Amino acid sequence: ESQLNPNYSFENFLEGDSNRLARSAGLAVSAKPGGTSFNPLLIFGGVGLGKTHLAHAIGVDIKDKYPEKTVLYISAEKFTQQYIDAVKKNNRNDFIHFYQIIDVLIIDDVQFLSGKTGTQDVFFHIFNHLHQNGKQVILTSDKAPVDMQDIEQRLLSRFKWGLSAELQTPDFETRVSILRNKLYRDGVDMPEDIIEYVAKNIKTNVRELEGAIISLIAQSSFNKKEITIDLARIIVEKFVKNTKREVSIDYIQKVVSDYFQMDIDTLQSKTRKRHIVQARQLAMFFAKKFTKASLASIGSQIGKRDHATVLHACKTVDNLSSTDKQFRKYVEDITKKLSV
Ligand code: ADP
Ligand code: MG
Repeated sequence: ESQLNPNYSFENFLEGDSNRLARSAGLAVSAKPGGTSFNPLLIFGGVGLGKTHLAHAIGVDIKDKYPEKTVLYISAEKFTQQYIDAVKKNNRNDFIHFYQIIDVLIIDDVQFLSGKTGTQDVFFHIFNHLHQNGKQVILTSDKAPVDMQDIEQRLLSRFKWGLSAELQTPDFETRVSILRNKLYRDGVDMPEDIIEYVAKNIKTNVRELEGAIISLIAQSSFNKKEITIDLARIIVEKFVKNTKREVSIDYIQKVVSDYFQMDIDTLQSKTRKRHIVQARQLAMFFAKKFTKASLASIGSQIGKRDHATVLHACKTVDNLSSTDKQFRKYVEDITKKLSV
């Protein structure tokens, strides 16, 4: 169970100026896992720029070249959860042992470990063991090590031992080749001027770029119409507008969950863990404040809750922000993020 996605291959990871260094470092690592000075290899960059894809590609390629090696991909969030469960069940040693016998360990979104001292601690020991034994560690993060907060110094210094390679926003040429490749793989024919129009206007990240092309294809097949430049204009306009952060409930959930470094799934989950409940209540509060949606509709979009739960959430947030200084700071910070 390596958890690797074979579609996230090097072949499908188009090269451009924005990713050349990270991509070739990845190739070097997969040619000689544990045998280069890129250990750990840390890939960092903003959302939707290909960190997860590249991390998988390295793992997939290693599995291909060295089938006998054990390669494990895991998100830092899952790793944390597993560790918490292991501690609860008194299995801390088994947990450590499991990770210490892996040949190639890939941990995605390590920024999630910030503030989680227990998990950082155990990861520190696992890391040291792997490194000393010539095993390869690959990490991704939304920030460079120097900008990471609430990560222990000794762990940060380990992160800097190898190579930190950034994924930047792709330029126009790269955006065009990514689109062409995607269309080719999906067997869709699209006039060149439309591909260029989309690539020219969607500049934020690859995920958005792919999203725009997918919705363009969907619209045209749904309406049984050809893909025209006019249709492309409409779709692109929608995407550009959305990224100008028209506040939607989705966007609010994204901002709130990013702020607390959790997944949207976690935010919506049924758990009663205090920090998750608070994050959810904040999302509901901001949805009430910044959208026209009804309490019922907010509830159904944020983890299928009823209108009374949303009402309660709004009151709780009001109360807490007048009594709890830390909580008030959350409200202020998130308000700022939602207002840019
Ligand atoms: P991140 O983890 O940085 O948020 P992902 O790895 O999830 O980003 O990438 C978002 C989407 O963009 C994925 O579908 C991925 O396959 C695609 N993608 C990113 N970079 C490239 C690239 N250089 N070539 C082809 N597809 C890419
Ligand atoms: Mg990712």
